[in-house]
Amino acid sequence: MSTCPQNIVDYMHEYLDGDISRDHEQQLKKHLQACSDCQQHMHQLSDTIAFVKSAAHITAPPNFEEQVMKRLPKAKQRLGVQKWLRRHPIIVAAAVFLFFMSATLLSNYPNDEFSVTKQPNLVVDGQTVIVPEGEVVKGDIVVKNGDIVIEGEVDGNVTVINGQYMASTAVVTGQIEEIDETFEWLWYEMKEMANDFMSLFE
Ligand SMILES: [Zn+2]
Repeated sequence: MSTCPQNIVDYMHEYLDGDISRDHEQQLKKHLQACSDCQQHMHQLSDTIAFVKSAAHITAPPNFEEQVMKRLPKAKQRLGVQKWLRRHPIIVAAAVFLFFMSATLLSNYPNDEFSVTKQPNLVVDGQTVIVPEGEVVKGDIVVKNGDIVIEGEVDGNVTVINGQYMASTAVVTGQIEEIDETFEWLWYEMKEMANDFMSLFE
């Protein structure tokens, strides 16, 4: 076979895939008639393909993936999963989103109810959250369906969903985010969930 034209093997594959041109088929046939090595190779190939086709209906046993993962060295396994997740952040976000959709997300869907992250030093006046002057709130604040007035300091992120952020001389060390549209809110939830999910693999 070493002296045979290189493209003959390609033609074999084309033939077995049922995707061969007349010209290639003729060249292949002509060569096979003259070359017993290639004939043999062709037989092996077609046997293999027949086997694969006959085995195609066999499904992997249940827990197959789990079993494979168990046999992998732990470090490698974690690294692989982590790498994959890092490379596919959007897929992860989407998967996590769908996974939690029915439970967490729908129960969090914006309604008219006012809520705010429990933090000491926060003053709640009706639907307005106030960070009083001279006070320092340590941690993130999420306000839903309400406003926040910051006169003191926030050592963390401030997120306002369906509300307004009001501050003049405020000091916020983290990010300030206002979310008004449902879509933006969904995106925010997805990012949050993806972050939580990723942290499992840190
Ligand atoms: Zn040959």
